[in-house]
Amino acid sequence: MAQLKCGTVVSIMDSIAPRKLAEEWDNVGLIIGDSSSNVNKIMVSLDLPVWVVDEAVENNVDMIITHHPIIFNPIKKINSDTALGKKIIKLIKNNISVYSSHTNYDIAQNGLNDIFAKQLGFEKTEIIKTTSQEKLFKIVVYIPEGFEDKILEEMSKAGAGCIGNYSNCSFRVKGTGTFQPMEGANPFIGQVDRLEKVDEYRLETIVPESKLNQVIKAMLAAHPYEEVAYDVYELKNQGQSYGLGRIGYLENEITLSSYASFIKKTLNLENIRFYGPSDALIKTVAMLNGSGNSFINAARHAGADVIITGDLQYHQALDALEEGIYAIDAGHFGTEKIMIKALSDCLRNILEKNGYNVEVIESKTNTDIMKNV
Ligand SMILES: [Zn+2]
Repeated sequence: MAQLKCGTVVSIMDSIAPRKLAEEWDNVGLIIGDSSSNVNKIMVSLDLPVWVVDEAVENNVDMIITHHPIIFNPIKKINSDTALGKKIIKLIKNNISVYSSHTNYDIAQNGLNDIFAKQLGFEKTEIIKTTSQEKLFKIVVYIPEGFEDKILEEMSKAGAGCIGNYSNCSFRVKGTGTFQPMEGANPFIGQVDRLEKVDEYRLETIVPESKLNQVIKAMLAAHPYEEVAYDVYELKNQGQSYGLGRIGYLENEITLSSYASFIKKTLNLENIRFYGPSDALIKTVAMLNGSGNSFINAARHAGADVIITGDLQYHQALDALEEGIYAIDAGHFGTEKIMIKALSDCLRNILEKNGYNVEVIESKTNTDIMKNV
């Protein structure tokens, strides 16, 4: 059984929620730790208050994955005068690494925004605010006859040729390739100092930026030529869109108060607030786990009747009502607590598939700090 390293967990987390998707103001990635250290136990938590650090120490955890970054604003001192300083010292003394996946996990495909929408019953949703679009590239490669299918297969396996629900998309034309091996060459076909004319295919396919390097590597590994002729073009076509917040459509209209009750039950909450008339009818639902104050306008422009989020402030809610959108405040913790189980399950799955025998535990002390009477 292979020994899991902290750096490998970083790569796995990058495959779940690429760091480049994070908002500019965010602080994501390996915040504390040594990527060469061994990891035998991982704990997943939404937040990292001191009691969660204690829980990790008691459970011999080597690495903590959180949603909210432990360090958000730059700090000038790490000492025991502050709660943050104490936590950092305790984590380092106990060889515990901390990795945070925040807005990148919200935004990622099948990330927290999608998980939250699915939890509320929306299978199909649209993005409220697009934050990035993946670049697309075209690769053209010249292949001697007989190798074209194998090379296409390897490039497709590495992630090329996907258009919508279609894989292995490519185009090929037959033609004549020419080359003259020079002194020092070790040609697959032909001889030094003699012009060769070879039946070749010009194979072209499409590839997203995130897969470009691995597709080129796979193509070069499968190609028989010593020097492979290939071109990479950046396309104007846009690839996958990424963004924050989701819009979903209810099958039938429902009153605001009934919908708030449904959300309370579905999210297993002790308390919920809603802003708007109890009998107002809603059908188009905007969702943003966490703090959604700054999203109210975007949700309204996207055509939402109501926004479900957390941390709603009085004046923002008042503005929302004046602008014609209702709001349901299900709490910051209430809308994000599902992340602990969802990410733990996802990690267990990937680690097991890759042959790592590592325990992933879910924090039990990271509970809602807001109580009701
Ligand atoms: Zn949050």
